[in-house]
Amino acid sequence: METLSFETIIFNDCKDYVEGLFLNIFSFRISKEILLSIGDFSVSSNSISFDAENAREKFNAVLDEALLNLTNIVTKKKTVYVHRNSGIPLIGSIAFGLIDRGTNIVEVRPISGCNIKCVYCSVDEDKRIVDFVVDADYLVDELRKLVEFKRINNIEAHIASQGEPTMYADLPRLIEGIKKIQQVKTISIDTNGILLTKSKIDELLKAGLNRINFSINAIDDKIAKNIAAVGDGYNIQKVLDTAEYLSDKVELIIAPVYVQGWNDDELEKIVEFTKSLKNEKFEPKCFI
Ligand code: SF4
Repeated sequence: METLSFETIIFNDCKDYVEGLFLNIFSFRISKEILLSIGDFSVSSNSISFDAENAREKFNAVLDEALLNLTNIVTKKKTVYVHRNSGIPLIGSIAFGLIDRGTNIVEVRPISGCNIKCVYCSVDEDKRIVDFVVDADYLVDELRKLVEFKRINNIEAHIASQGEPTMYADLPRLIEGIKKIQQVKTISIDTNGILLTKSKIDELLKAGLNRINFSINAIDDKIAKNIAAVGDGYNIQKVLDTAEYLSDKVELIIAPVYVQGWNDDELEKIVEFTKSLKNEKFEPKCFI
């Protein structure tokens, strides 16, 4: 019996197929018929075991094929997995990879897709028909090459996305890898904050995150929900609590978007909230 373990995949035994969940939110299926052609098998969380010779080689070929058919379970979109052997470069699309606009800031986009549907979404997130997810090591290696090419010593690696970057399960690994690039002096991120928990925040800061640009568009629960457009999927009180937790741990920028006719009376409240944040190490800022 050979057991194959995968750090980033969880297997689930279903009726006629085995479902895999890659990086927490990307699902794929492998038919039992194909698996049985390798040998008798059983699955258990992060591993699959085969009663067969050379199972690893055969299963890896099956897995490579399955990863070509990923679906993002949050957005329900087909998803392209971009990795070193995919033949897809990381410069050239604004939906994923690396974006260099000729300054000391390089945008790092590991994932597309969002957990909310802001009425003003500046990237038309909901209109893109496919999502992308990029291998963290590939992204770090290509960023290192780009930074060396730019010959600048104070690079800010800005993790943003056409979507919500905290949906990327490999974020701590990505940040740890970026931190090892000597020329990168700041690692920042844009987030709507919904998925951040205290333990997740601690993990990201420990990995090397220096600054968080945090979207808050209203203090009023109903207005905030209307703008996020996902009903109870958005909870402004949780978001405000998260901002408070962050405020004395990391440089924090509160970044509201003014949506005329939607949050006109909320902006002053957001400024007051920002001023109320206690912070001795960093001064929380609010950019409107
Ligand atoms: S959080 Fe950003 S990507 Fe997501 S819907 Fe809002 S504006 Fe668009």
